[in-house]
Amino acid sequence: MWLSYSVVFLITSLIIFLLSHSWLSTFLAKKDRQSVDLELKELVALYESGGINSVRKEIAVHDSLPVQESYYFRIVDPENETLLASHSTSYEKFQPENLEDSPAVSKDGWIRLVEEEDKNEFQIFGNVDTLEVASQKLTDGTLLQVGRSTEYREDLLESFRLIFAISMIPLFLIGGLLLTFRGLRPLRGMLATMKSIQAGNMESRVPVNHSNDELDELAKLFNAMLEKIQNLINAMRNSLDNVAHDLRTPVTRLRVTAEAALQSKSDPDAYREALSDCLDETDKILSMLDTLMDISEAESGSMKLNFDSIQVKKLLEDTSDLYEHVAEDKGLHVTLDCRDDLTVKADRNRVRQALANLLDNAIKYTNSGGTILLEAHESDHEVVIVIRDTGIGMLPNELPHIWDRLYRSDQSRSQRGIGLGLSLVRAIVEAHNGRVEASSEIGKGSSFRIYLPSGEPATSQS
Ligand code: ADP
Repeated sequence: MWLSYSVVFLITSLIIFLLSHSWLSTFLAKKDRQSVDLELKELVALYESGGINSVRKEIAVHDSLPVQESYYFRIVDPENETLLASHSTSYEKFQPENLEDSPAVSKDGWIRLVEEEDKNEFQIFGNVDTLEVASQKLTDGTLLQVGRSTEYREDLLESFRLIFAISMIPLFLIGGLLLTFRGLRPLRGMLATMKSIQAGNMESRVPVNHSNDELDELAKLFNAMLEKIQNLINAMRNSLDNVAHDLRTPVTRLRVTAEAALQSKSDPDAYREALSDCLDETDKILSMLDTLMDISEAESGSMKLNFDSIQVKKLLEDTSDLYEHVAEDKGLHVTLDCRDDLTVKADRNRVRQALANLLDNAIKYTNSGGTILLEAHESDHEVVIVIRDTGIGMLPNELPHIWDRLYRSDQSRSQRGIGLGLSLVRAIVEAHNGRVEASSEIGKGSSFRIYLPSGEPATSQS
């Protein structure tokens, strides 16, 4: 990680260096040539006004100056004889006598004399000392030449390269470390969050900086995972509280029955009766525990559901078959109304369990001679399953409570039941991303509607 960030940093720095080096080099070269052109113009003016003698003085002045401040001068007569030239030793290395042998003139009109010993050296940045000479022919045939060594500007560029190289090493290290430090921030956040969770603070979350890169994505996923774990823990804690609370009453009843039998000093038949009561109570507790566990699983999202496309008509038929005899015994008329091709995306056994609970209630709370209708239709990509009875119905103030755990209305006390059926129905339906509704009128009957997502179009199913 550190190395890759450092490499990115190094490449970026190199590009910046190459661009600024090229700009600086072009700028200095342009400046040099402008100053040579200017000096040439001055030389022409001097020669035309004062003749060769006034030029001689100028040359003498420049010969005494350091190379970075001086110019090279040369005056040639029409027969190509050198009349006057700079004598400074600074220019000897360029072998200015070569100017007499018709030297190569570049496209831009400049003559370039390269320092003899630099000629064959390999130069990355072209820092070869050169004497750049500009010429002007006068009307009388005299040729005036002014030159300047590139030594000074090459020295400047070399210093620039040196400063860059020296500053790059610490910059490379610091930049790389800085980028790594920033890049690893989400991981440090995750570590801190893990430590905080380990210390018992389940509310801790990784800070998200919304940069939308991979590490940010990881932080968001990590937080989503923590959220899910926390919800599961909370759901488990609540279920445990609820189960403990809901079991208190039947277990107390069990204890009271056993205690009363022990204290009564009665005959063996009475003991037998008490034991039978205890057995009934134990069965109730076991069935209650099973249902409570199912409700908790469905509510916490940990219920295992095998989703499939199920034919709704088959579901309704299976459920009504299950209760056929009970309904018959009670003198109830069960009818079924459903299209053949209607399907839901659901877990077959769990939905059957929910429907069985609703049909069981409808049979329980409908008096002899009544009717129960099982009906299903499709509406807005949902399948609506309706279970309607002509039973005792419910009061409007009872309706909001029927989904609560262990709720039983006063008029239902005479019937068997523990008040968990509808809680389980709702938990199962909601675990299928569906919903359930109830409506009722006292003395006239009740209607329960289950809404489930539609399944694939039906072919033939068993
Ligand atoms: P249980 O039937 O075991 O009492 P449920 O959770 O299935 O428990 O139902 C809760 C309460 O809702 C019932 O006690 C009853 O008062 C009312 N209820 C449910 N279904 C019907 C129905 N079809 N007709 C009238 N009342 C009903």
